[in-house]
Amino acid sequence: MTTTNDSSPKENGQGDRSLPVLQNSSRRTAVKGAFATLGAAAFVAAVSPLRQAAKQTTASEFMQTHYKRLTDEDKRKVIERLEAEVKQEHGVDVDIADDRPIPGTKFVYAINLSVCNGNGKCVEACHKENNHDRATNQSYIRVLEMPKGTMDMEHGNTTYSGVVPKDDKFYLPVQCQQCDEPPCVDVCPVKATWKEEDGIVVVDYNWCIGCRYCEAACPYHARRFNWKQADVPADEINPDQSYLSNRLRPVGVVEKCTYCLHRTRRGKLPACLEACPTGARVFGNILDPDSNIRWILENKRVYILKEDLGTKPAFFYYFD
Ligand code: SF4
Ligand code: SF4
Repeated sequence: MTTTNDSSPKENGQGDRSLPVLQNSSRRTAVKGAFATLGAAAFVAAVSPLRQAAKQTTASEFMQTHYKRLTDEDKRKVIERLEAEVKQEHGVDVDIADDRPIPGTKFVYAINLSVCNGNGKCVEACHKENNHDRATNQSYIRVLEMPKGTMDMEHGNTTYSGVVPKDDKFYLPVQCQQCDEPPCVDVCPVKATWKEEDGIVVVDYNWCIGCRYCEAACPYHARRFNWKQADVPADEINPDQSYLSNRLRPVGVVEKCTYCLHRTRRGKLPACLEACPTGARVFGNILDPDSNIRWILENKRVYILKEDLGTKPAFFYYFD
């Protein structure tokens, strides 16, 4: 099978020099806090992508409170507004839900590297499920073609092509590891990203100021920055969305794998798992003693990436 696996972002030019966050008093408070922490020069450099985003953001978006502080009634109005915006801009009816963690659930993921053959079907499924930009072929998954005998992902090739699998290689899919000690969360100056009770690290796209500190802090290169509005043909937009996952993201914000929370919190499996033709992927609730994922973690020899960093991933790898 032939595959390409390149999801590198491309920078755009500079636009308006004003900082749109200053149009909103509640956000101004948060941003001033970040300013005090970072210092003037570092802060201006950090928020420079906003010059691009400013031209494409409505006043109501800037007036919006942080998701965590919205009342249920506020959320309903915000979601109605977002659905109406999609209808107006794309002519498509979408359903944006507010899927919350299921009590007693801690989601973890595992990949059997003896079985993964690098075909990239997971990458493709994530791309479609999460309404990624068609032109840049974005996805939350990178599959690294690795020389046999190492687990050091720095030796991996993310832009391999041709027939897979190759005899002297194995394949290492990498996506957000939903760490229990997530450095990306720690560095966010405005608390736009956090870890939820079921272990999923999320981003409030309407609160993110696009500074990209989290992207730099992630040792797994699992976050993406939106340089431009995702270009998805209207008839290909996945209408089944959630506020904190696969809704169409605004320009100038960071995004990441959410373990497909719009599916998994409704009892379905992640799109990447369903698409995998080899059965390499296993997902589930580690708190359930009868789950397949629990059995694997208790009975297989499992690996985590970059263990020395102390990030404590909720994402595991194993070999048969
Ligand atoms: S989520 Fe990331 S890019 Fe957005 S404000 Fe926080 S650190 Fe900056
Ligand atoms: S779990 Fe969902 S969002 Fe995460 S990589 Fe798989 S398809 Fe993409």
